[in-house]
Amino acid sequence: MENFDVIVLGAGAAGLTAGIYLSRSRMKTLILDTGVVGGQINLTHKVANYPGTGEISGRDLALNMKDQAREFGCKIISQADIIKMDLNSDIKTFEVDDEGIFSSKAVIIATGGKPRELGLESEKKFKGTGISWCATCDGDFFTGKDIAVIGGGNSALEEAVELTKYANHVTIIHEFDHFQAYPWAVEEARNNNKISFLMEQTVTGFTGDEKLSGVRSTHKITGEETVTPVEGTFIFIGYIPNTEAFHGASFLNDRGEIITDESMSTNVPGLFAAGDVRQKRYRQITTAVSDGTIAALSSINYIHSKH
Ligand SMILES: Cc1cc2nc3c(=O)[nH]c(=O)nc-3n(C[C@H](O)[C@H](O)[C@H](O)COP(=O)(O)OP(=O)(O)OC[C@H]3O[C@@H](n4cnc5c(N)ncnc54)[C@H](O)[C@@H]3O)c2cc1C
Repeated sequence: MENFDVIVLGAGAAGLTAGIYLSRSRMKTLILDTGVVGGQINLTHKVANYPGTGEISGRDLALNMKDQAREFGCKIISQADIIKMDLNSDIKTFEVDDEGIFSSKAVIIATGGKPRELGLESEKKFKGTGISWCATCDGDFFTGKDIAVIGGGNSALEEAVELTKYANHVTIIHEFDHFQAYPWAVEEARNNNKISFLMEQTVTGFTGDEKLSGVRSTHKITGEETVTPVEGTFIFIGYIPNTEAFHGASFLNDRGEIITDESMSTNVPGLFAAGDVRQKRYRQITTAVSDGTIAALSSINYIHSKH
């Protein structure tokens, strides 16, 4: 068994930031990631809103964060197959296939999440080029273009209004004949003359050879097919936190997000959470990085007070 001060689950922006702060404070730190280092940043073609970097590819930003954590001595295992974990004991343990057993005095869960997808084959083709899940991140790339927003909740309507700052026209494509959003959000979208609505639609695919050229949808009652010509599409149909591994835990809300206080502590002693996996309103790289910093400092404080 190899003992660490802190084990961080997830090597996205939140986990890597925690790794940087912990290792720099001479805490023996291990980051375990079941996927690839960088998390969702890897999905971002260009990041234009991370302070101090200028426009940078998501991949490069992730690599910079990883290198910085490693330079301070943080150990990172990616593609980790975690077969067993104990988060409730004073000393937390993880068994990782082919790697061994690891223990720590504190754990930070930074397993992020993923925007819900439609699950269409053609959606994969334009992911990160014509199709985005983040208006704040990618809206500017569609300045002066016609775009679509898929969804009918608060996020979809609020982001559609936000996107009219950039786009020439926004078509909101929604599956029902009414919206599941606050009345003021619906009114704001309806009063915006750059927005039009295509209701009761099932989105069936995306058209285009190299570049996205349209959204194909079918009317749920009449079956009539429409192809909405667009160069960009934003999908807001929900968000899935990566918390399957903690199913049934007392620190999850009913959407599966982790509940913390502002020091990133959960209701389990020595267990902290950071980044998109938390119950929170805004999910950005900057907010993940902020959470990771706070979780690292709080876990150091916890270790000094308890061990
Ligand atoms: C397409 C897209 C574009 C975006 N563009 C921008 C942008 O331009 N600017 C911006 O600020 N934000 C952007 N965002 C949002 C931003 O990427 C996220 O808010 C941020 O990266 C979240 O970081 P995180 O560390 O909390 O989680 P994640 O990046 O999701 O990282 C979580 C990590 O945990 C790993 N993991 C999952 N489950 C487990 C487990 N059980 N055990 C161990 N590891 C696990 C995953 O493999 C992953 O590496 C974008 C998001 C998307 C999807």
